[in-house]
Amino acid sequence: MKGNASTSRALNRRLILNLLRNRGPVSRAELAVITGLSPAAVTFVVTELIEDRLLVEREAVTSSNGRRPIPVDINYEAHLALGFKLNRNSIDCVLTDLATIPLATMETAVANTSPEGMIEAIKDAIPRLLAQAGRKEQDIMGIGVSIPGEVDPKKGVCLQSPRFGWYDLPFAELLAERVHAPVWIDDDVNAFAIAQKLFGAGRNHRNFAALAIGAGIGCSLVLNGEIYHGSNGAAGKLGHITTIPQGELCECGRRGCLMAHAAEPYMIAEWGRKRGEPATRTDFVAAAEAGEDAVVAILQEAGSRIGRHLADLVNLFDPEIIVVGGEAVQFGEALLGPLKRSMNEFLFFSRPELQTDWVASSWARGAAALATQSIFDFERSPSG
Ligand SMILES: [Zn+2]
Repeated sequence: MKGNASTSRALNRRLILNLLRNRGPVSRAELAVITGLSPAAVTFVVTELIEDRLLVEREAVTSSNGRRPIPVDINYEAHLALGFKLNRNSIDCVLTDLATIPLATMETAVANTSPEGMIEAIKDAIPRLLAQAGRKEQDIMGIGVSIPGEVDPKKGVCLQSPRFGWYDLPFAELLAERVHAPVWIDDDVNAFAIAQKLFGAGRNHRNFAALAIGAGIGCSLVLNGEIYHGSNGAAGKLGHITTIPQGELCECGRRGCLMAHAAEPYMIAEWGRKRGEPATRTDFVAAAEAGEDAVVAILQEAGSRIGRHLADLVNLFDPEIIVVGGEAVQFGEALLGPLKRSMNEFLFFSRPELQTDWVASSWARGAAALATQSIFDFERSPSG
C-alpha cells in the first residue's frame, strides 16, 4: 500500500475506532494484540484520540491474573450528530450521540419543498433539538441529510429528486453555508443502510442489502463493507424495476415501476378504488389491523410483487442478510409473509435471512449516521 505517515495514522485511527465500535471497550494491550500494531503505535493513536475526545477510558476490571487493565472505549456522548430526513410535507429531525442513539427528536412541517424552504426549516430545528436535549452547539460534529432520489454523496449534490423537483442541486454546500457545520447528504435508503452497518443488524456483515418499503421502495447494497452507489448514484433502485409494462405512472415519470404497484401510496389508492371512496393512510392501517379482507389481499399482492423482484436482486448480489425497514414494516406478516414466500419461490441458490429492523426514528437516525460514519471512515470528507 502506498501512502505516507498521515495516511497510515488515519488508517490506524480508523482501525482502532472500528474495532471498538464492533467489540466495545478493550484495553490498550489487547488492542495491540488484535490489530497487530505495536504497543507504542497503539498508545500513540489512543492518546491522540483521547485528546480529540473520540475515546475515553472506562473503569478498570480486575482480570484473572489480578491485573487491572484500563479499557478504552469510544466517547459516544461527547459528540453530537444531527439527522434530517426530508419528506414531501415534513422533515424528521433527530439529535444523536456518536452511536446514533437519539437524544432529541421532532417532526417539523414544511410549507414548500424548495431548497430554501427545506434549509430554513432545518436551520430553525437545530436550536430546538439542542434545547430539548440540553446540549451545546459546539458539540455538533456534523449534519446528515437524507433525500429521496439520486445523490452524489462525495460531491454533496442531489442529482435528481423527482419528489421535490430538484436536479443537480449542491444541497450540502447550500446548507453548510447557512448552518456553518459540515454537511453530508445521501439517498434516504443508503442512509438507513449506513445506520444498519454502523450499529444495527448489518454491523457484523460485509455484504447485505437494506430494503425500505414506505412512500417508495428502495434497496441499498453494502458490498465488501461499503455502500455500493454505482456510477451515477443510482444503484439498488429496486423500486424502479418495471413490474408491469405500461402500468401505473411512477413519480419518476416512467410507467409500471415496482413502487408504483407496491409502495404504500399505491396500496392506499388501490383500496380507495376498491371501496369506491378515497382512503387515508390512517384508515388503511386501521383496516389492516382489523384484518379486512380487501386490505389483506392488497398487502399480499404488494408483498408478493416485491418478493419476486427481491429474489432477482439476491440472485445477482448474494447478500448475507436482508434488513427490512420503512413504514410498511408496520403491516408485519400480512406484507412480509407473502414477500418471503414469493422471494423463496424465485431464489436460485442463496437463502438470505430477512431481518426486520424498524423503529419510528430509523430514517432520521440514518441521516445522522451520514455524519457519524465520517468518524469511522476517513475516506469521505464533508462539504462546507
Ligand atoms: Zn419509477
